Amino acid sequence: MRATGTESLSAFADGSLELWMQRLLRRAAAAAERGEVPVAAVVLDPQGRAIGWGSNRREAEADPLGHAELQALAQAARLRQDWRFNGHTLLVTLEPCPMCAGALVQARMGRVVYGTADPKRGALGSCLDLSRSPTAHHAMEVLGGICGEACQEQLQTWFRQRRRRSGMPAVHLPGD
Ligand SMILES: [Zn+2]
Repeated sequence: MRATGTESLSAFADGSLELWMQRLLRRAAAAAERGEVPVAAVVLDPQGRAIGWGSNRREAEADPLGHAELQALAQAARLRQDWRFNGHTLLVTLEPCPMCAGALVQARMGRVVYGTADPKRGALGSCLDLSRSPTAHHAMEVLGGICGEACQEQLQTWFRQRRRRSGMPAVHLPGD
């Protein structure tokens, strides 16, 4: 687990981060049933209310931008009519990729909370850390490992099943 600035996450005490992550796991499972990689995200406002949901829709929309984080961000921005997310929190089941981590920095997201790390493509600490890049003139708090084992298990199960169906070689590809 990696945590920076967790003291300001006190508004989410008493296990509420875990509760949100469990909701995301259920939404990610629904995405998996549609043939998508199971990843789901939600944006919470400073009061802890959900204002944007997203799940992976790359296959359904044939859209390389169809990642859960970008869907949640777009919905929340439409609702608020504002692209700035200082003081907001984005939760996602998998550590964001470089595209999504870059978008979150650009959106000035206050905090990002993720479930499991992505050792192959994670861009908030695993492969690179865009939250601490000199290009990020915005400080974004990052907290990983919330329900991490459950999130990892969900992804691994999905990839195992897909390999079995397609006869693909046994390689671990979280967040493919
Ligand atoms: Zn992404």
